[in-house]
Amino acid sequence: MPVKIAAQAPQTQRPTYVGGGTDLMPLLKNHVRDDEELVFLDGVEELNGIWEEAGWITIGAGERLYDIANAPLLREKLPAVAQAAGATASPQIRNIATIGGNIMQDRRCIYFNQSRYWRKGLPLCFKTGGAVCHQIPNSPVCRAIYYSDVATALAVYEAQAEYIEAGVKKRGPILELVKRHSQANGLACGEHLPILVTSFRVPAPAAGERSGFYKYAMRATIDFPLINFALRCGGDREAKLVAGAVAPWPVELPETAKLLNGPATDDEIAAACAAELQRLAMPIKEACIPPTLKRSLYQYVSCLLHLRREV
Ligand SMILES: Cc1cc2nc3c(=O)[nH]c(=O)nc-3n(C[C@H](O)[C@H](O)[C@H](O)COP(=O)(O)OP(=O)(O)OC[C@H]3O[C@@H](n4cnc5c(N)ncnc54)[C@H](O)[C@@H]3O)c2cc1C
Repeated sequence: MPVKIAAQAPQTQRPTYVGGGTDLMPLLKNHVRDDEELVFLDGVEELNGIWEEAGWITIGAGERLYDIANAPLLREKLPAVAQAAGATASPQIRNIATIGGNIMQDRRCIYFNQSRYWRKGLPLCFKTGGAVCHQIPNSPVCRAIYYSDVATALAVYEAQAEYIEAGVKKRGPILELVKRHSQANGLACGEHLPILVTSFRVPAPAAGERSGFYKYAMRATIDFPLINFALRCGGDREAKLVAGAVAPWPVELPETAKLLNGPATDDEIAAACAAELQRLAMPIKEACIPPTLKRSLYQYVSCLLHLRREV
């Protein structure tokens, strides 16, 4: 079921697309964002569907997280994506939220996700159009964290995002899109890339490939990740490991991944992962934990290392 979507620029100057609205609507309601030109995507058939064709699995950007978590094709071939979708937020949110909205969700920070009244007590930060990051005052950019669970899983499969930008259909690596999105999203309140994401394409796994997703959060339901991991090994590709909720985008861990198919013990791999994240993660103060405590969570990669031995 290939997507046929008109490569047309929308008729508004600066549209804000609404998938399920679960991330955007609370921000608008609390005047954290003030987007005016909303374009609702519900009912746009071209954004729906999950199918496999010619060695690629495609997921429409309008697919609900509930349907992604339960799709037999994804549970069998891209289990990390199905597990990440099933671990996102709460059942009520998963019934409404789309994968496109999950990937394009706002970055979060305890200084930004507050009422306008609360924020009046501090100078404007980068994310609200100012020139300081209250988290890391000497940082030249916003350090709010990107918490998408599904992005970590898509990144481990080297997924590509398909989108329409300035009327032109484009395709590129998911991590590239998330980095561009995160940079724009850290510039000023409500700033966003003027693109419509239409689908995600993932190479179908080779025989013997194994993968999975693990998320650690304060509560088992309705909570953002404090950390998440996606791991892929076996098959005919180099193993890959990605961590999320530790920086403004998912972080690849190539040095640790090199150990996954070798003789290293699980403890050695967990230690290597913690050391690599110590260098690559950019922790900030979060609602539940200080940055120092977050570093102790890097060891949770151990929860996925059983995949090394499964056949
Ligand atoms: C209580 C709560 C708990 C949550 N917990 C988690 C969690 O554990 N893990 C997690 O990953 N997320 C979590 N979230 C965020 C949640 O995943 C998102 O709210 C949801 O996935 C967003 O999907 P949506 O379709 O509702 O997006 P929307 O709210 O519709 O949109 C979100 C953003 O994406 C843009 N957008 C939407 N669709 C497209 C598109 N096709 N092309 C371009 N831009 C688009 C919108 O303009 C908006 O800026 C939580 C949210 C809440 C409210």
